[in-house]
Amino acid sequence: MDHPRRDAGWIEVICGPMFSGKSEELIRRLRRAAIAKQRVQVFKPAIDRRYHDTRITSHSAQSLDAEALPDVAALLAALDPATQVVGIDEAQFFGPALVAAVQSMADRGVRVVIAGLDQDYLGRPFEPVPQLLAIAEQITKCLAVCSQCGALASRSFRLAGGDERVQVGAADTYEARCRACYLAAMTAPASADDDDGLAGVA
Ligand code: ADP
Ligand code: MG
Repeated sequence: MDHPRRDAGWIEVICGPMFSGKSEELIRRLRRAAIAKQRVQVFKPAIDRRYHDTRITSHSAQSLDAEALPDVAALLAALDPATQVVGIDEAQFFGPALVAAVQSMADRGVRVVIAGLDQDYLGRPFEPVPQLLAIAEQITKCLAVCSQCGALASRSFRLAGGDERVQVGAADTYEARCRACYLAAMTAPASADDDDGLAGVA
């Protein structure tokens, strides 16, 4: 959905698991704002260097120029007062300070479009996305395709790695799963040769 009024501040959140098309949808909305000749700025957390340092990138290889920033203070410092539309990808990596920053931008008349994971790899709400959902005017929940059964997928299943909440990765580390296939994997007994320590994590 596109913004109803060119001059009104508001907040849009695009959430869902990995591979659900959040970045694709964010890029689509920001491209349309640029077509409408609005002044757009795009930000992403510097931690996300999976594909490119200074672009937001979708798994379908679409991309858009973005400023990669270490934290919310840097984001606010980089914000041009003339900017009408702000896009933020991977919101979950910016931490809780993002909520007040986004609120203040929208209060000043900026349309803020945010994409982020709503759940971590254990299926827990991934702050600050739940808080952003609560203050947003418009919410889009994207679903991926389950890598096991082809159903709609709401979870990001971690295939490899440790148990830290933040672990940047793509198809080598995560896959999209529906609730049933996610639960089946998380509750499966660890096999003797399983040394990744993940099976059975609940
Ligand atoms: P997100 O930002 O939510 O991780 P992207 O916009 O980067 O999603 O990627 C979405 C694209 O990823 C899809 O259009 C499709 O081409 C590709 N893709 C790869 N695996 C899957 C999957 N399991 N489910 C849906 N799309 C997938
Ligand atoms: Mg993305």
